[in-house]
Amino acid sequence: MVAGHLGTPESLIRHQLLDMTAGYLSFRCDADDFLTEYFSDICTEKCYRSNISACCSREGIITFFADVVINLLVSGPEEIPELRAVLEKENRGFKCVYLGKKGCLWRVKPVVCEMFLCDTSKNKLFSRKPGLVQEWKALKKKEKSFTWPDRPVLFDKIESYFKAAGFSSSLMYMHNSPGLLRVKKLAKMRDA
Ligand code: SF4
Repeated sequence: MVAGHLGTPESLIRHQLLDMTAGYLSFRCDADDFLTEYFSDICTEKCYRSNISACCSREGIITFFADVVINLLVSGPEEIPELRAVLEKENRGFKCVYLGKKGCLWRVKPVVCEMFLCDTSKNKLFSRKPGLVQEWKALKKKEKSFTWPDRPVLFDKIESYFKAAGFSSSLMYMHNSPGLLRVKKLAKMRDA
């Protein structure tokens, strides 16, 4: 439904939303560079080779509605049917339905997936290179500037945009999670 609403690559809605998300996509590139440079070896060695990965588990995924929209905005036309196809299959395994043979099927995976690092991997890297702790904290702070609704944030704006267009989804946590609604309420009281 979201892909249908976004329309063709030239559609006005698509261009407006891409403008809105430019800063976020730049943040995701920075996060990706950091994780690739410092964590890919640790994760490959610790989890993939030994097969003990707790990442990408079936029950572990949390997806915001904005994650879906942003991923579809940057996905090629051949990638979207692939995502739909896996959703139509029954998942009897222990892993996330989106985990393909070459990794995650999303072009821009959900932000919670991107910014999750297990304690073992963090301890391993940060004990060797304590200077990187600040860099990681800065990325986490930047993440919140898009996703934590104690101020107007991109993820909330995207949900509002689609709600106004008549969409409703259980993934609209900015509008239906009691915890996040409380964050918004407290922020309003703070700013009043
Ligand atoms: S969406 Fe992608 S990164 Fe997130 S749990 Fe599933 S396969 Fe892993």
